[in-house]
Amino acid sequence: MTQHFDLIAIGGGSGGMAVVRRAAEYGMKCAVIESARLGGTCVNVGCVPKKVMWYAAQLSHALHDAAEYGFDAALTAIDWSQLKSGRDGYVARLNKIYARNLANSEVTLIAGHAAFASNNSVMVNGETYSADHIVVACGGRPAVPDIPGAEHGITSDGFFELASLPRRVAIVGSGYIAVELAGVLNALGSEVSLMLRRQHLLARFDVMLREELMEQMQDDGIRITTSVSFSSVERADDQTITLHTDDGVMDGYDTLIWAIGRESKVNGVNLDAAGLSINDAGFIPVDEFQNSVVSGIYAIGDVTGQAALTPVAIAAGRKLADRLFGGKLDAKLDENDIPSVVFSHPPIGTIGMTEDEARQQFGDDVKVYQSRFVPMYYALTARKPRSVMKLVTVGATEKVVGCHIIGDGADEMLQGFAVAIKMGATKADFDNTTAIHPTSAEELVTMR
Ligand code: FAD
Ligand code: NDP
Repeated sequence: MTQHFDLIAIGGGSGGMAVVRRAAEYGMKCAVIESARLGGTCVNVGCVPKKVMWYAAQLSHALHDAAEYGFDAALTAIDWSQLKSGRDGYVARLNKIYARNLANSEVTLIAGHAAFASNNSVMVNGETYSADHIVVACGGRPAVPDIPGAEHGITSDGFFELASLPRRVAIVGSGYIAVELAGVLNALGSEVSLMLRRQHLLARFDVMLREELMEQMQDDGIRITTSVSFSSVERADDQTITLHTDDGVMDGYDTLIWAIGRESKVNGVNLDAAGLSINDAGFIPVDEFQNSVVSGIYAIGDVTGQAALTPVAIAAGRKLADRLFGGKLDAKLDENDIPSVVFSHPPIGTIGMTEDEARQQFGDDVKVYQSRFVPMYYALTARKPRSVMKLVTVGATEKVVGCHIIGDGADEMLQGFAVAIKMGATKADFDNTTAIHPTSAEELVTMR
């Protein structure tokens, strides 16, 4: 017999979990269908294990610096298997917490792969489940180029399965994942080559962030090759990997990581049966309220092509439940001024318009403030990574429309400044805030 729910979410990741739990708070009968591990990309192969690796990399840098602070500390080698098992254990604990949260919210967990049977029902393991509202939250997966031998490379998913630290690694890509994994592996002792098809990292970021990160990664020992594209990949009997470019070869790698973007995971979901289709970019199109073209079917998170960030998927899910079941008829995801951090070395925090975007829109009304300095932490060390901060302001009131930070602490610094910017803060509001000394953050309220 078909089981009926008020709401079914396809996918138990950031978005799916958020929508069912919020709907359950409103007393709705909900189910979430998950074909793999609860928590989705973020918990299992994304933000969480990535951040653990980033902490390990930070520790590696700190251990190197410690000697210059007078500590008798020597970094010899990292026990990769201890790091991996600690990390995997943490993720496994989170999986259990997610299952417990569902149970506490009285949400039914259906384990298996969901495919639409009609516009109000799905099939899982031969059983049919129907609902008044169905939310597609099936996320994404890493893209792999369509070239011979691409299978010799791994993706970010494979990175989290590595049983040992790669010795010589090639990373192809220029986005968040490429720079984050390059920074981690470099800090932990791999020889890292980062290969870009164009001349820049992080295409959509402020040019100051892009140039500064590229320089600092190179200073840190990461080899960056620009304007390179690959025609094929080979793995020799001794397991070494060779990349064939349009005009030569790059060889001698034991690991190749593709980090060239992500695509939506709609394969096998049988969108046709529901009357849904994907757009040219491969995502399920939605309006500002997450409505798909079919009444009663919605999509949230990475599957929509909206900003592929966990807090965005969560916010979209919660707002949708607020709108459908909480009487908040206008509730919707706010896509303006989404703050974002790249866990590179050093990290980047960014919100709002880049300088170029602001100049295109506001021309001469734009005034930019910038500060470049070496944080005090490096007063005693030989290495001197810089911090750079930029405020983009507009108009006579100098409203802050963009804030871009690269340097230690940028990751934790941005959230509070994001609140101020979201509230419409001006440069004068920044100036009128007493500085906290000695910090890096104080530079943001003392710029001239
Ligand atoms: P997902 O979390 O991917 O969840 C989708 C779920 O649906 C999956 O569990 C999948 O198994 C399941 N599913 C798919 N199809 C079906 C089906 N047919 N039936 C049943 N279940 C199905 N974001 C940040 O904000 N900060 C970060 O630091 C960050 N780091 C990242 C690092 C990496 C390496 C990666 C890859 C991503 C990172 N992200 C980060 C992005 C973030 O993980 C995603 O934006 C977020 O997980 C999207 O949530 P979602 O609910 O849309 O999809
Ligand atoms: P991104 O979209 O960040 O970057 C991928 C980049 O790779 C493209 O912008 C493109 O840059 C380049 N590229 C595309 N195709 C090719 C190709 N065939 N060969 C070489 N380079 C190519 O994707 P990621 O996979 O890094 O991350 C996916 C998303 O996950 C991110 O956009 C982000 O939303 C999220 N994420 C968030 C994190 C965080 O919050 N800290 C961390 C990790 C992921 P160009 O056009 O300039 O060549």
